[in-house]
Amino acid sequence: MDSITRKTLLYKTGVEHGSYCINHVEGCAHGCLYPCYAMLIKKRAGRIKDYDDWRKPKIVSNALELLEKEVLKLKSKISYVHLCFSTDPFMYGYKDIAALSLEIIKRLNEQCIPCTTLTKGIYPVDSMQHNDLTKNNEYGITIVSLDESFRKDYEPYAATLKDRLHALRQLAERGFKTWVSLEPYPTPNIIRQDLTKILDAVSFVNEIWFGRLNYNKKVSKFKFYKEFYKSQVEFITEFCKKNKISVYVK
Ligand code: SF4
Repeated sequence: MDSITRKTLLYKTGVEHGSYCINHVEGCAHGCLYPCYAMLIKKRAGRIKDYDDWRKPKIVSNALELLEKEVLKLKSKISYVHLCFSTDPFMYGYKDIAALSLEIIKRLNEQCIPCTTLTKGIYPVDSMQHNDLTKNNEYGITIVSLDESFRKDYEPYAATLKDRLHALRQLAERGFKTWVSLEPYPTPNIIRQDLTKILDAVSFVNEIWFGRLNYNKKVSKFKFYKEFYKSQVEFITEFCKKNKISVYVK
Protein backbone atom coordinates (compact mmCIF):
# COMPACT_ATOMS: atom_id res chain seq x y z
CA MET A 1 0.00 0.00 0.00
CA ASP A 2 1.21 3.54 -0.75
CA SER A 3 1.85 5.97 2.06
CA ILE A 4 1.87 9.72 2.62
CA THR A 5 3.02 11.94 5.47
CA ARG A 6 0.96 14.67 7.09
CA LYS A 7 1.77 17.74 9.15
CA THR A 8 -1.14 17.35 11.59
CA LEU A 9 -3.43 14.53 12.59
CA LEU A 10 -5.98 15.38 15.30
CA TYR A 11 -8.59 17.93 14.37
CA LYS A 12 -11.60 19.39 16.13
CA THR A 13 -15.03 18.57 14.72
CA GLY A 14 -18.25 20.51 15.00
CA VAL A 15 -20.22 17.41 16.02
CA GLU A 16 -20.12 17.83 19.82
CA HIS A 17 -18.16 19.83 22.34
CA GLY A 18 -14.68 18.36 22.72
CA SER A 19 -15.01 15.94 19.85
CA TYR A 20 -11.94 15.39 17.70
CA CYS A 21 -11.32 13.23 14.66
CA ILE A 22 -8.44 11.32 13.08
CA ASN A 23 -8.23 10.35 9.41
CA HIS A 24 -5.01 8.34 9.24
CA VAL A 25 -5.57 7.16 5.67
CA GLU A 26 -6.15 9.12 2.46
CA GLY A 27 -8.77 7.52 0.20
CA CYS A 28 -10.99 4.49 0.77
CA ALA A 29 -11.07 1.19 -1.10
CA HIS A 30 -14.77 0.69 -0.33
CA GLY A 31 -15.63 3.14 -3.13
CA CYS A 32 -19.22 3.77 -2.05
CA LEU A 33 -21.47 5.09 -4.78
CA TYR A 34 -24.13 6.98 -2.77
CA PRO A 35 -21.86 8.98 -3.60
CA CYS A 36 -19.13 9.26 -0.94
CA TYR A 37 -19.08 12.82 0.40
CA ALA A 38 -15.43 12.54 1.50
CA MET A 39 -14.44 11.58 -2.06
CA LEU A 40 -16.32 14.56 -3.52
CA ILE A 41 -14.53 16.95 -1.13
CA LYS A 42 -11.06 15.49 -1.84
CA LYS A 43 -11.72 15.62 -5.57
CA ARG A 44 -12.86 19.24 -5.39
CA ALA A 45 -9.73 20.10 -3.38
CA GLY A 46 -7.53 18.42 -6.01
CA ARG A 47 -6.25 15.84 -3.49
CA ILE A 48 -7.34 12.91 -5.67
CA LYS A 49 -7.71 12.57 -9.43
CA ASP A 50 -10.76 10.34 -9.75
CA TYR A 51 -12.72 7.39 -8.35
CA ASP A 52 -9.93 4.89 -9.09
CA ASP A 53 -7.43 7.10 -7.33
CA TRP A 54 -9.78 7.40 -4.32
CA ARG A 55 -9.98 3.62 -4.14
CA LYS A 56 -6.20 3.31 -3.66
CA PRO A 57 -5.78 4.05 0.05
CA LYS A 58 -2.58 5.72 1.25
CA ILE A 59 -1.70 5.19 4.88
CA VAL A 60 -0.34 8.16 6.88
CA SER A 61 3.08 6.78 7.77
CA ASN A 62 3.84 9.35 10.48
CA ALA A 63 0.42 9.03 12.18
CA LEU A 64 1.75 7.64 15.48
CA GLU A 65 4.52 10.27 15.80
CA LEU A 66 2.01 13.05 15.16
CA LEU A 67 -0.43 11.53 17.63
CA GLU A 68 2.17 11.36 20.35
CA LYS A 69 3.02 15.07 19.99
CA GLU A 70 -0.51 16.38 19.48
CA VAL A 71 -2.23 14.39 22.18
CA LEU A 72 0.02 15.87 24.86
CA LYS A 73 -0.93 19.39 23.77
CA LEU A 74 -4.65 18.77 23.29
CA LYS A 75 -5.39 16.17 25.95
CA SER A 76 -7.27 18.49 28.34
CA LYS A 77 -9.57 19.70 25.52
CA ILE A 78 -10.52 16.32 24.03
CA SER A 79 -13.60 14.49 25.28
CA TYR A 80 -13.39 11.76 22.64
CA VAL A 81 -11.85 11.00 19.24
CA HIS A 82 -13.75 9.65 16.24
CA LEU A 83 -12.16 7.38 13.62
CA CYS A 84 -12.88 8.38 10.86
CA PHE A 85 -14.87 10.95 8.85
CA SER A 86 -13.05 10.75 5.52
CA THR A 87 -11.87 7.15 5.30
CA ASP A 88 -12.61 3.77 6.91
CA PRO A 89 -10.52 2.67 9.94
CA PHE A 90 -11.25 -1.05 9.42
CA MET A 91 -11.20 -1.03 5.62
CA TYR A 92 -12.14 -4.42 4.23
CA GLY A 93 -9.07 -6.44 3.24
CA TYR A 94 -6.51 -3.97 4.65
CA LYS A 95 -4.93 -5.47 7.76
CA ASP A 96 -2.30 -2.69 8.03
CA ILE A 97 -5.01 -0.06 8.32
CA ALA A 98 -6.88 -2.04 11.00
CA ALA A 99 -3.62 -2.56 12.93
CA LEU A 100 -2.81 1.16 12.83
CA SER A 101 -6.37 2.02 13.90
CA LEU A 102 -6.11 -0.32 16.90
CA GLU A 103 -2.75 1.17 17.86
CA ILE A 104 -4.15 4.72 17.66
CA ILE A 105 -7.13 3.72 19.80
CA LYS A 106 -4.82 2.03 22.32
CA ARG A 107 -2.62 5.12 22.65
CA LEU A 108 -5.62 7.42 23.06
CA ASN A 109 -7.17 5.10 25.64
CA GLU A 110 -3.88 5.09 27.58
CA GLN A 111 -4.35 8.87 27.88
CA CYS A 112 -7.92 8.21 29.16
CA ILE A 113 -9.42 9.45 25.88
CA PRO A 114 -12.25 7.23 24.59
CA CYS A 115 -12.79 6.62 20.88
CA THR A 116 -15.75 6.07 18.60
CA THR A 117 -15.28 4.18 15.36
CA LEU A 118 -17.38 3.59 12.26
CA THR A 119 -16.74 1.04 9.54
CA LYS A 120 -18.17 -0.83 6.59
CA GLY A 121 -15.46 -3.42 7.15
CA ILE A 122 -15.12 -6.24 9.68
CA TYR A 123 -13.84 -5.64 13.21
CA PRO A 124 -10.82 -7.83 14.05
CA VAL A 125 -12.65 -9.10 17.14
CA ASP A 126 -9.90 -11.45 18.37
CA SER A 127 -7.34 -8.62 18.41
CA MET A 128 -9.55 -6.39 20.55
CA GLN A 129 -9.30 -6.47 24.33
CA HIS A 130 -12.16 -5.47 26.59
CA ASN A 131 -10.76 -3.91 29.74
CA ASP A 132 -10.93 -0.81 31.91
CA LEU A 133 -9.06 1.26 29.33
CA THR A 134 -11.22 0.26 26.35
CA LYS A 135 -14.62 0.01 28.02
CA ASN A 136 -15.71 3.54 27.04
CA ASN A 137 -14.99 3.12 23.33
CA GLU A 138 -17.99 2.82 21.01
CA TYR A 139 -17.67 0.63 17.93
CA GLY A 140 -20.07 1.18 15.05
CA ILE A 141 -20.96 -0.13 11.62
CA THR A 142 -22.98 1.37 8.82
CA ILE A 143 -26.03 -0.63 7.79
CA VAL A 144 -28.67 1.00 5.60
CA SER A 145 -30.16 -2.19 4.17
CA LEU A 146 -30.06 -5.96 4.67
CA ASP A 147 -30.15 -6.54 0.93
CA GLU A 148 -26.84 -7.81 -0.48
CA SER A 149 -27.66 -6.74 -4.03
CA PHE A 150 -28.22 -3.18 -2.80
CA ARG A 151 -24.90 -3.40 -0.92
CA LYS A 152 -23.15 -4.55 -4.10
CA ASP A 153 -24.61 -1.60 -6.04
CA TYR A 154 -23.84 1.12 -3.48
CA GLU A 155 -20.95 -0.23 -1.36
CA PRO A 156 -19.32 -2.47 -3.99
CA TYR A 157 -16.01 -3.13 -2.25
CA ALA A 158 -17.10 -3.06 1.41
CA ALA A 159 -17.62 -6.16 3.58
CA THR A 160 -20.85 -8.11 3.25
CA LEU A 161 -23.65 -7.01 5.57
CA LYS A 162 -23.72 -10.43 7.23
CA ASP A 163 -20.00 -10.34 8.09
CA ARG A 164 -20.17 -6.75 9.30
CA LEU A 165 -23.08 -7.55 11.59
CA HIS A 166 -21.56 -10.78 12.83
CA ALA A 167 -18.37 -9.04 14.00
CA LEU A 168 -20.32 -6.25 15.67
CA ARG A 169 -22.53 -8.73 17.49
CA GLN A 170 -19.43 -10.57 18.73
CA LEU A 171 -18.09 -7.29 20.12
CA ALA A 172 -21.40 -6.63 21.88
CA GLU A 173 -21.36 -10.15 23.34
CA ARG A 174 -17.87 -9.50 24.69
CA GLY A 175 -19.09 -6.40 26.53
CA PHE A 176 -18.02 -3.64 24.11
CA LYS A 177 -20.34 -0.69 23.52
CA THR A 178 -21.70 -0.86 19.98
CA TRP A 179 -23.71 1.35 17.66
CA VAL A 180 -25.14 1.40 14.16
CA SER A 181 -25.33 4.21 11.65
CA LEU A 182 -28.41 4.02 9.43
CA GLU A 183 -27.00 6.71 7.17
CA PRO A 184 -27.35 7.47 4.28
CA TYR A 185 -30.78 5.84 4.44
CA PRO A 186 -32.28 5.37 0.93
CA THR A 187 -35.80 6.30 -0.21
CA PRO A 188 -38.28 3.63 -1.46
CA ASN A 189 -37.71 4.50 -5.14
CA ILE A 190 -34.11 3.31 -4.60
CA ILE A 191 -34.98 0.24 -2.58
CA ARG A 192 -38.23 -0.97 -1.06
CA GLN A 193 -37.44 -2.39 2.34
CA ASP A 194 -38.89 -3.00 5.75
CA LEU A 195 -37.19 -0.87 8.39
CA THR A 196 -38.48 -3.18 11.14
CA LYS A 197 -36.29 -6.01 9.82
CA ILE A 198 -33.18 -3.81 9.84
CA LEU A 199 -33.91 -2.55 13.36
CA ASP A 200 -34.54 -6.09 14.61
CA ALA A 201 -31.18 -7.19 13.17
CA VAL A 202 -29.33 -4.44 15.06
CA SER A 203 -31.41 -4.38 18.25
CA PHE A 204 -28.43 -5.56 20.35
CA VAL A 205 -26.57 -2.21 19.96
CA ASN A 206 -26.41 0.61 22.51
CA GLU A 207 -27.08 3.42 20.04
CA ILE A 208 -28.59 4.01 16.60
CA TRP A 209 -27.88 7.01 14.37
CA PHE A 210 -30.20 7.86 11.52
CA GLY A 211 -29.57 10.18 8.58
CA ARG A 212 -31.06 10.72 5.15
CA LEU A 213 -29.33 10.17 1.84
CA ASN A 214 -27.85 13.39 0.42
CA TYR A 215 -26.15 14.30 -2.87
CA ASN A 216 -28.24 11.77 -4.79
CA LYS A 217 -30.75 13.02 -7.38
CA LYS A 218 -32.94 9.95 -6.96
CA VAL A 219 -34.07 11.15 -3.50
CA SER A 220 -35.79 14.31 -4.73
CA LYS A 221 -37.40 12.27 -7.52
CA PHE A 222 -39.34 10.47 -4.81
CA LYS A 223 -42.27 12.88 -4.39
CA PHE A 224 -42.89 12.16 -0.73
CA TYR A 225 -39.28 12.00 0.48
CA LYS A 226 -39.77 14.57 3.28
CA GLU A 227 -42.80 12.72 4.65
CA PHE A 228 -40.95 9.44 4.21
CA TYR A 229 -37.94 10.53 6.26
CA LYS A 230 -40.19 12.06 8.93
CA SER A 231 -42.09 8.77 9.30
CA GLN A 232 -38.85 6.73 9.49
CA VAL A 233 -37.50 9.02 12.23
CA GLU A 234 -40.70 8.59 14.24
CA PHE A 235 -40.56 4.85 13.78
CA ILE A 236 -36.92 4.57 14.85
CA THR A 237 -37.44 6.85 17.84
CA GLU A 238 -40.32 4.69 19.03
CA PHE A 239 -38.36 1.46 18.43
CA CYS A 240 -35.36 2.77 20.36
CA LYS A 241 -37.51 3.97 23.23
CA LYS A 242 -39.14 0.56 23.50
CA ASN A 243 -35.80 -1.27 23.35
CA LYS A 244 -33.86 1.16 25.57
CA ILE A 245 -31.46 2.11 22.77
CA SER A 246 -30.12 5.67 22.47
CA VAL A 247 -31.06 7.39 19.26
CA TYR A 248 -29.50 10.28 17.36
CA VAL A 249 -31.11 11.78 14.30
CA LYS A 250 -28.96 13.89 11.97
S1 SF4 B 1 -16.72 3.64 3.54
FE1 SF4 B 1 -17.08 5.83 3.95
S2 SF4 B 1 -15.19 6.85 3.32
FE2 SF4 B 1 -15.17 4.82 2.41
S3 SF4 B 1 -16.00 5.12 0.33
FE3 SF4 B 1 -17.67 4.50 1.70
S4 SF4 B 1 -18.61 6.41 2.40
FE4 SF4 B 1 -16.56 6.92 1.56
